[in-house]
Amino acid sequence: MKRFLPFLCCLFLLAGCAAPASSAEPEQAQFFSMDTVMSIRVYSGGGLDAIQAARQEIEGLDKLLSRTDPDSQISALNSHAGDGLQVSLDAEVANLLSFAKSVSQLLPGCFDVTIAPVMDAWGFTTQERHIPSADTLSAAMALVDSNGLIVDEQASSARLERAGMEVDLGAVAKGFAAGQADAVLRQQGVTSALLDLGGNVTVIGAKPDGTAWQVAVKDPQNTSEALCVLSLEDQTASTSGGYERYFEENGQIYHHIIDPKTGYPADSGLLSVTVISADHMLADALSTALFVAGPDAALDFWRSREDIELVLCTQDNRVIVTEGLEAGYRPAGEDRGYTYEIARR
Ligand code: AMP
Ligand code: MG
Repeated sequence: MKRFLPFLCCLFLLAGCAAPASSAEPEQAQFFSMDTVMSIRVYSGGGLDAIQAARQEIEGLDKLLSRTDPDSQISALNSHAGDGLQVSLDAEVANLLSFAKSVSQLLPGCFDVTIAPVMDAWGFTTQERHIPSADTLSAAMALVDSNGLIVDEQASSARLERAGMEVDLGAVAKGFAAGQADAVLRQQGVTSALLDLGGNVTVIGAKPDGTAWQVAVKDPQNTSEALCVLSLEDQTASTSGGYERYFEENGQIYHHIIDPKTGYPADSGLLSVTVISADHMLADALSTALFVAGPDAALDFWRSREDIELVLCTQDNRVIVTEGLEAGYRPAGEDRGYTYEIARR
């Protein structure tokens, strides 16, 4: 039940804030994939066949990308670490690995697709979560280096240079799946839809009445409430926050977004980061990376680009909204002590 609670909350938020003004009921499906509950709702065009096709696409990607499925292509890549074999992959998997590697170069020290040994050391992979010993953690950290992931996109293959290295696509797989599912739905004639792939809300088109979707960003300290509501069309809002997966030990919270500089859960002054972009995969990757980067570095990064907008929730209860969202956003947590500010370029 605990596992499903965030989903129920999210549904509440979406039902409360994102339902179309028209009386048309959407066709919809809810399912479990990529270790999270997902939902697809189609409001116009396509219908149930389109949803089924998008669902199959996502489930197919899960089979390719899962690190815990021994038959996945990522498991094949990981199992050959250090033995020199260039592992053949589907073109889309090679492209995704190459993209994930490029994010490490974009935000050095914040993102690393070879973080897997550290995730294992903390028990996030097995659900037996615990604080690792210093020795275990330093052995795991010694294996984290995305420069040791060699991807050949032309040959559709990859290898890991050192034994024990492993890739973990947890930070990007759902955004990638959102992009692929979005394409499938559009091919099937869908013109208005909402996809919620566990922390990644993707909207296709506008609401059936032609106005923008109203998508709630969760309050990271009270996930059944909204922090703010955004007006979106043809975009993804991807949120990363320590509240999504964590455990408590000795009164301290340890969450699943790791600072690759320390091997410890990132403590950069942020409670959550939401990245809004028309590039679904980018939104997902950057929400994780900017959570590690912290508020100042995240805003500097935003100023260097034209393709993203941000909502940052800081540990001192400030909500920083970048100016591209200003016209369509609505604060929703003032009564919970949040203050809102617009970041300018
Ligand atoms: P997200 O929910 O998209 O923020 O992704 C969190 C997931 O990304 C974790 O469960 C790990 O699988 C993976 N991850 C954690 N820390 C990092 C990091 N610094 N760089 C890349 N992937 C990470
Ligand atoms: Mg992410």
